[in-house]
Amino acid sequence: MLKKLSVRTSKRVEFLEITGEVRKFIGESGIREGIVVIYVPHTTCGVTVNEHADPSVVSDMTKHLGKLVPEDAGYSHIEGNSDAHIKTSIIGSSLTLIINNGSLMLGTWQGVFLCEFDGPRTREIYLKIIAG
Ligand code: ZN
Repeated sequence: MLKKLSVRTSKRVEFLEITGEVRKFIGESGIREGIVVIYVPHTTCGVTVNEHADPSVVSDMTKHLGKLVPEDAGYSHIEGNSDAHIKTSIIGSSLTLIINNGSLMLGTWQGVFLCEFDGPRTREIYLKIIAG
């Protein structure tokens, strides 16, 4: 089962929580046991799992990633968004999560985030469930 989600980001750098959309897709699928692959088909946008309870965690992550990989650091790429490409490779483009007893297995404090590094844009996310 495959689903394509479309989301709109509103800032250049933003972590957008998509846990609810992933849980909804699992519910609609009717699949009780398996894995869900979450894949982002972009080069300046990634996906990760991290804390969704305290929003300061996400703001610390985006601020610190900005210090690690500054927006302007004499890059060669003519498009001017090399920082976004580098951050995307650091974060990664996919997740594989477990579906158990019809539910997404996440820790209490965990959420799934689309990580925008060159927004605002409309972004696609592929969700694929493999039963087993
Ligand atoms: Zn580029």
